[in-house]
Amino acid sequence: MKLPSGSPNPYQIALQQLDIAASYLDLDPGIHDMLRYPKRELIVNFPVKMDDGSVKIFTGYRIHHSTVRGPTKGGIRYHPDVTLDSMRAMAMWMTWKCAVVNVPYGGAKGGVVCDPKKLSLTELENLTRRYATEIAILMSPEGDIPAPDMGTNPQIMAWIMDTYSMHRGYTTPAVVTGKPVEVGGSLGRYQATGRGVSFIVLEALKHLGMEADGATVAVQGFGNVGSASALMLQEAGCRVVGISDIEGGIYSADGLDPKDVLAHTREAGTVVGYAGADFITNQELLALPVDILVPAAVEEVLTRDNASHVRTKLIVEGANGPTTPEADRILGEKGVFLVPDILANAGGVTVSYFEWVQGLQRLFWTEEQINEQLHRVMVQSFQEVLHMAQEKGVTMRTAGLILAVNRVGRAILIRGIYP
Ligand code: NAD
Repeated sequence: MKLPSGSPNPYQIALQQLDIAASYLDLDPGIHDMLRYPKRELIVNFPVKMDDGSVKIFTGYRIHHSTVRGPTKGGIRYHPDVTLDSMRAMAMWMTWKCAVVNVPYGGAKGGVVCDPKKLSLTELENLTRRYATEIAILMSPEGDIPAPDMGTNPQIMAWIMDTYSMHRGYTTPAVVTGKPVEVGGSLGRYQATGRGVSFIVLEALKHLGMEADGATVAVQGFGNVGSASALMLQEAGCRVVGISDIEGGIYSADGLDPKDVLAHTREAGTVVGYAGADFITNQELLALPVDILVPAAVEEVLTRDNASHVRTKLIVEGANGPTTPEADRILGEKGVFLVPDILANAGGVTVSYFEWVQGLQRLFWTEEQINEQLHRVMVQSFQEVLHMAQEKGVTMRTAGLILAVNRVGRAILIRGIYP
């Protein structure tokens, strides 16, 4: 992750957040300390045969933060800015996310330092199969179940599942989630994170006494999470007026049709150039006067430099870590209601959990059952975090962390320290 100078390192942010949550809990200092460290960290440097016949070395990671509540779960990121500390932070956030929605997993994260857009399909497959083999010492349906994240997709998950299965000698669908439906993926998984974001937006609007019908929305990032969030929010009656991606953004006061923007993006590779909308920068998008802002791209986009320009009432974090602690403080002072990543984007891991259960049982649910169960989990989790926020007089972020750290801390206490 390339951070603007002076930005805190994401692992330091994650540690600060843990310390804040711990200060509200009667947490044993030893258990607090245990939670500060990832349980295990794997760094792999591996060769990949490129199309021109050369061999290139890539670096990858797989970090397990905690295994106390169950096997580890967490995405795999392909991005040039992947670092050990960004993986550590995201693995810790996964532990909290799984605990907030109460799925029986611990947190993990993995990634490869690469730009997937610069690799051919063959190179991407070679890299994926070799990386999967390198991390196979940690990965299994019982121990660690990866999923997609930025730069990876269902096809890449299928290659991971196939590689693992080839080594085992039999097909093991439950080793990875976010797979295509044809090879054991779950219905509704691809849209699950965005669908979860939209359920949370609707609950938050209810809490704030605002109507969904006609509420204006800006979405940063138009990949898996951003596009699904925009589509679902429009279905719920909201008016999506701004959308952006890495190239820039588009704005229309009359509202954009996310389906149409998606069709344009598939052709053009970016939202930019979409007819009938004005070009705006990402900074302008974050400062739009809208009812709802959904950052769904990368981390640390809301910072001390731009948080005071934000003109929304509600922020729902589709991305992981989009808000720095300083921005959090500024937004809190402005009275913005912010639903943190560990709750807002937990729809993905929730349906991943459903996919894993279906894979283990070889018994598949209907899309209706999946969406219904997802709705139940997201609404219940929102209410639990809100209740904690009101009880302790803290922000939704701190409340989510308190709830999660308490659940993990109690599990450690009950299991005991071995030997
Ligand atoms: P993706 O690769 O599908 O899409 C990312 C989008 O963000 C693209 O539109 C890209 O152009 C845009 N983007 C990248 N850098 C940007 C920048 N600097 N400024 C503005 N836009 C930028 O990724 P995704 O899976 O949608 O993930 C997005 C975020 O959501 C990440 O933080 C990820 O960790 C988080 N997340 C994803 C899932 C999931 O199920 N995919 C689940 C939970 C959280």
